[in-house]
Amino acid sequence: MPELPDISIYLERLQAKVLGAELMALRLASPFLLRSVEPAVGALLGRSVTTVERLGKRIVLGFSGELYAVMHLMIAGRLRWRERGAKIPGQLGLAAFDFSTGTLLFTEASKKKRASLHLVAGRDGLAAFDRGGLEVLTATDDEVLARLHAERHTLKRALTDPTLFDGIGNAYSDEILHAARMSPFRITTAMELAEASTLATACRQVLTAATATLRAEVGDGFPETVTAFRPEMAVHGKYGQSCPVCGHKVCRIVYADNEANYCATCQTQGRLLADRSLSRLLREDWPRTLEELEDHKAQRGAPRRAKPEASPAATAALAAPRRASAPAKATARRRSASGNDSK
Ligand SMILES: [Zn+2]
Repeated sequence: MPELPDISIYLERLQAKVLGAELMALRLASPFLLRSVEPAVGALLGRSVTTVERLGKRIVLGFSGELYAVMHLMIAGRLRWRERGAKIPGQLGLAAFDFSTGTLLFTEASKKKRASLHLVAGRDGLAAFDRGGLEVLTATDDEVLARLHAERHTLKRALTDPTLFDGIGNAYSDEILHAARMSPFRITTAMELAEASTLATACRQVLTAATATLRAEVGDGFPETVTAFRPEMAVHGKYGQSCPVCGHKVCRIVYADNEANYCATCQTQGRLLADRSLSRLLREDWPRTLEELEDHKAQRGAPRRAKPEASPAATAALAAPRRASAPAKATARRRSASGNDSK
């Protein structure tokens, strides 16, 4: 699943390619992709792109007249930049946005069509897609701690929950936990401020370094290979290989359709996490699939974001579901107004 570094580079390159460009055509190849009814596809045609931004792991193209195309890549969705009018690839192709400057292809390398496109009118409409995850690059240690204390979970599970933390998935959670020297099984409600601080620092270091690496690779082109398995990663996808810090073999624990990689020496005081009770702990702390975690509570309101943000508006949002809540919408507008959703 593309995570914050991948999404950030998509945004930067999309800003270079389509800001100010006119949308000439939107070709839909998959009947499953478009999940909204209003506004119709035709409403976007002839409009130019005014904003390229991010809402959690979603990529949002804003068009003149406050219309938005909201793309969620899920696990296997990818974007590609091609000559204008490029053919949509047969098996993988979902859609093509034909801009005056070139064609943005939306593909998905999976039989399960989970990637989605919503067309939305107005900033208020966009607020419904805000999962409320904390922006870890700019969050304070106290804000991170408040999210950790909001629900009792394993740390691995909490980091990858889009309603708790923004833009972190299976790959970078492994990397962040290794950098922080923390067990994926640490119970979040038992964590203290010093741990939250260590975790926040690791988040910033890992995500910023990964983004810089990707940026250098892509240059002024467009990402062609977006993968969760990168050679420079320390533990993710490195089961059986040597930990770059201590040299011991990287371990794994498999649960549902998922796998966590960690170094027992660096992260768990040498303790292997393969025993049955810990397996069960992680399994029971998780929806069956990563996709379910991404989707879960999507219909729920926004109570959690009120905890770390003690503003009256956020507190008021506790009382009402997000879709109906003016304060929550105002929060979303504030997040979006900065051009991306960092604070
Ligand atoms: Zn190690």
